[in-house]
Parts: sequence; C-alpha cells; structure tokens
Amino acid sequence: MDLIGLNYQTIRKLLLQQKITSRQLTEKYLHNINEGTEINAFISIFNEDAICLAREVDKKLLTGQAGILAGMVLGIKDNINIRDFRTTCGSKILSNFISPYNATVIQKLKEADCIFIGKTNMDEFGMGSSNENSYFGPVQNPVSRSKVPGGSSGGSAAAVAAGLVTASLGSDTGGSIRQPAAFCGVVGVKPTYGRVSRYGLVAYGSSLDQIGPIASNVRDCAQILEVIAGFDPKDATSANIAVPEYSKQLDRGVKGMVFGLPIDFFGEGLNSEIRMGILKAADILKKHGARVISVPSKYMDFAVPAYYIIVTAEASSNLARFDGARFGFRAEEFSDLEEMYVNTRTLGFGSEVKRRIMLGTFVLSGGYYETYYQKAQKVRRLIKKSFDWAFQKCDCLLTPVVPTTAFGVGEKTHDPLSMYLSDIYTVSANLAGIPAMSLPCGIDSSGLPMGIQIMANHFDEATMFQVAYFLEKHLT
Ligand code: GLN
Repeated sequence: MDLIGLNYQTIRKLLLQQKITSRQLTEKYLHNINEGTEINAFISIFNEDAICLAREVDKKLLTGQAGILAGMVLGIKDNINIRDFRTTCGSKILSNFISPYNATVIQKLKEADCIFIGKTNMDEFGMGSSNENSYFGPVQNPVSRSKVPGGSSGGSAAAVAAGLVTASLGSDTGGSIRQPAAFCGVVGVKPTYGRVSRYGLVAYGSSLDQIGPIASNVRDCAQILEVIAGFDPKDATSANIAVPEYSKQLDRGVKGMVFGLPIDFFGEGLNSEIRMGILKAADILKKHGARVISVPSKYMDFAVPAYYIIVTAEASSNLARFDGARFGFRAEEFSDLEEMYVNTRTLGFGSEVKRRIMLGTFVLSGGYYETYYQKAQKVRRLIKKSFDWAFQKCDCLLTPVVPTTAFGVGEKTHDPLSMYLSDIYTVSANLAGIPAMSLPCGIDSSGLPMGIQIMANHFDEATMFQVAYFLEKHLT
C-alpha cells in the first residue's frame, strides 16, 4: 500500500471493513520512518508507544467505540507538549526536557483516537523559514533533496509529503504551517487567532501563534481542525465561539462568491509561474459562477518589518524563562548564578534565536520603544483594518503563499534579511489574526510544488475550506 497521499477517508473505510488494522497501518508508517528515505523529519519516534496506542484503537474498532479520527497516524511538531515525551522545540536548551503534561490539542486528538507516531523537526523555537535552524539538523524536502522543506514546521510538512504520517500538527506564527506546506506540496491551515487552544504550545510570539493541521488533502485538515478547535478555559486567548462541522460543509461550490486579489501581493519579486498558477485558479472560480475583483493592500510593504519587530519583542520576553534554573539544559561550568544563566543561554541557544532575542530586547528598550514597537503596533492595526475592509467586499482573498518555490539548502542561511522577506505573503494573516491556508496549485517547470493562499474573515474557516475543497477538485 502506498502511504503517500493516502487520505483518512480511505483509511477509515479500510479499518471499518477490517481490511487492515490500525496496528498494521501504524507499523507501515513506522517502517517508512525507520527504514525508508532519510529526510530527518523527526526528532523523536514513538516506536513502541505508537503500536500500543494502535492496539487500543483496534480494540475500540471491534466494539464500535472508536473515535472520529480512529487510527489516523499523526506527527506532532516538537513545540507541542505530549506527556512523558521530550519537547525540544528544536533547541539544545530543551534537548532533555520531558513534558509533564499534554497540550489541549493532544488531549482532544487522543480522545478522537489518533495515533501519535513521533515529534517532528522544526526551526529552533519556530524561528526560521527553511528548517535549517534546528539543533537536530536540517530537514530535506522529499520532493527534491537539495531544496529546503520550508519552516518552521518543515518536519511536519515533509513527513506528510513523504508518506511518513497521515497528517501532522504544526504551529504558525508568521507562516510556519503555510510556507512549508507550499514548499512540500501539501495542505496547511492556520486557523483564526483564538480558534485553537495554545495551552501546551511553547510560546514564540504569543499574540501571533496558532496550532493548525497539515495533511495531503483539504478534508483531512477540516476534520482535524474540527477536533482541535474550540474554547479552552486553560488558554485565556481561546475564543468561546461555536465550531462548525467543517467537513460536512465542504461541497457547497463557489457560485455567487466574490474573491479578492490584493494588488500588492502580485507585484515585483513574485515568481511568474506562481502568479500564473493563482490566476488560473481565479479563472476556474470565475467559470463556476464566482466574481474575482482586485482589492487594495496598501500596507503590505510594512508587514514584514512590523512582524519582525513584534515577534522578536514577544520572543525575547517568552524565552527569558529558559535560563538553566527550571527547564532542560544547564551549562556545566559557572561560578555564580549570573554566569550560570549566561553560559546556559550562550551554549543552549542557536545563533538565530540569539539574534532574535537581541533584536527584541532592543526594540523594547527605553528610547526605542516608541520608535519601533509602538509604531509596529500601529501598522498592525492598519493591516487589520485593511483586511476588515476587504472582507466587506469579498468572501475570500487569493494570494501566493511564498514569492518562490522551495529554495536551495544553504541559499539564504547567510542572509537573514532575504530569509525574512520570504515571509512577505504570510505574516499579515497572523498580524490581523485571520485564518489562512495553503493549497497546492500545480508544479513549476523544474518539478517543484507551488501553493496558493486562501484567506478568510475571522472565524470563517468554513468558507475557506469550502473554497479550498472546490479548488482542490478542479486544480488537479
Ligand atoms: N519564518 C517566520 C519566523 O521566522 C515564521 C515562523 C513561524 O511561523 N513560526 O518568524
């Protein structure tokens, strides 16, 4: 059985008809992970524990008590806590940290009878766009080994694309689910801020972070979001808003809908094949009774600077807790408390994390706070307003996910600014808090996957999925 692209609907049918057991399926995935092509997608692999879980699921399947995602094999980004397993965040400083509790999303997926097969590789603390900033080494793009898989949820996206899991969870602070999904040719969803509980997700930029699914198809993402979304009293930012059954509303077509193409997302720097891919998708929508209009997006140029000011400010504060006293790694040599902090952080953090802590401390410091941080917050408000305006006219916006297809390994590692600029189309959704997803929209002339981004209004993931489902059917 070919596990690449295998969707959960097919798996569930096979499980219910007893043509395969959850245990057999899990063993196949484990075989692919352990003996298949080595792309370094995992930091930890749960060999025995995954089989144990699968056995339990098989029992439940026999008695008709299996949960709604029974037997779905998942990889979990290594910044989401699973009790009794390591949560490293791709960092040396947490390389020996064992989580004492489950994140809320993990609890919910457990109740739905998912199988956790391991923790996926990532850029350290979510900081990066290529997965080259992991203490555990870079991840390779399974489509083309000399290319990066994107980041920071590169392990999660690559594992789906390589058939090492049915689906995975990632986190998205400025594009970390959508960008690797686009680079690896899979579907990735960043929900509305507040839609999914962040309890148990190690914080990077707390006002931007969201957990979301990555899968080979839209329906699987919709089903996973249905399970993990919803109010959680343990997360003060989680919203008490009903969660629709996304997977039951997918097939509603696009007739009468209005789509916006934000003008500045199609300017200089965008790869022409990606542009054509998106315009082709727009044409398909038009042919099926939708209207496509241009909408202004005038603050686009300020999105990356505003994002990198806000996210580094929040990161510098969030990462202050990793000091060797309470969690994970501690330097062996020091003569007093301060030296213990300094040596632990010097040895424990990688260079990109240090750069961000310094940037964040700088933009928050006296004299610069108004010039940088406060101004960035003003830009954030303007970006949010411009989306509010666009969603009065349109149901969804269509944009590229990244200006290019997957770039080469090592191509941008010595030029952080060019790395940051690859986030240009993804960060504004985080700044505004709206849902956005990446959907494959073809292969370019060198054989690399291209992605289209669909953005929707706050808490309107249902419409976003409906459009994605339609395009998925018509683009392939
Ligand atoms: N590439 C962006 C950054 O480095 C986004 C990361 C993310 O979404 N976690 O901050």
